[in-house]
Amino acid sequence: MRPVLTIVIPCYNEEKVLPITSRMFLDELTSLTNEGKISDDSKILFVDDGSSDKTWEIITSLANADRRFSGIRQSRNRGHQNAVFAGLMEVKDTSDVTVTIDCDGQDDVHAISKMVDEYMKGSEIVYGVRSSRDADTFFKRFTAETFYKLLASMGVEVVFNHADYRLVSSKVLQEFAGFREVNLFLRGMFPLVGFKSSTVCYQRKERIAGESHYPIGKMLSLAFDGITSLSVKPLRMITVAGLLTALISFVGAVWSIVSHAAGNAVDGWTGMTCIICFIGGVQLIGVGVVGEYIGKIYMEVKRRPRYIISERTYDNSRDA
Ligand code: UDP
Ligand code: MG
Repeated sequence: MRPVLTIVIPCYNEEKVLPITSRMFLDELTSLTNEGKISDDSKILFVDDGSSDKTWEIITSLANADRRFSGIRQSRNRGHQNAVFAGLMEVKDTSDVTVTIDCDGQDDVHAISKMVDEYMKGSEIVYGVRSSRDADTFFKRFTAETFYKLLASMGVEVVFNHADYRLVSSKVLQEFAGFREVNLFLRGMFPLVGFKSSTVCYQRKERIAGESHYPIGKMLSLAFDGITSLSVKPLRMITVAGLLTALISFVGAVWSIVSHAAGNAVDGWTGMTCIICFIGGVQLIGVGVVGEYIGKIYMEVKRRPRYIISERTYDNSRDA
């Protein structure tokens, strides 16, 4: 049986690239169908993440022109992770395999064919891994690689140099739907689902047009979210730092008492000020990190919906 494939593509203000890349996606889908690798019912689903430009108009006209194109629109911009998640949940009951890919042409569409091959060989998750980062600037490469190493050191299981280009089977998606967290960090969550997985290498290219939506600030916040959503190691580190500080303070206290008893006590204003500043700083960082986790818990307990779809290019009742 040839699997029904859906390519899920998040788009946010991508009017410049969509007319170009939509062709590439359709060509790949057509050749996979012609090669007999996937079912004729396979399709492409664009997720408009609340764009303010002509992205949605482009998606609707693509859907009118070819039945293999379809689109859903988020009621507002919610970020890349939630857009991908919305697309995955939309198709989880109608497709056998789903590939998520960015819409800017950076990820090589030809890797989809290799991913499907891996799926046919028995993998339920196939991670797209960048073979090199030559197309990136030194800064992007350095920060990205530090990001993966940092995650690994915090105990977050991620596939090195894998972003959100991956194939997942419907079996995995059904299980994934049971992950109820609101703070989404998909590349750290899928390895937790388990099942047999494999990787496919591809060359990451430059953006075809438009600009990246991930400036340094957003990248740092994604890294921080990734760590705090999937690891409690920073909390443990505070405890260890607290214990070490307490130990050093104890030694210092003994030393100051002995000095006092020996009549060697000096004014000691500078030393005292330094210690107060140091302890104050350490405590504030500790409280800050604990606060981050409380903030996360606060967002989680509200159980707000993770996505809201305002429009579809098709009648949803057909899938119900
Ligand atoms: N994206 C999205 N919502 C956002 C930001 C980005 O759906 O709030 C989409 C964007 O259209 C693209 C993908 O996520 O398809 C990756 O974004 P981008 O190319 O800007 O990031 P980069 O590749 O530079 O990390
Ligand atoms: Mg990109």
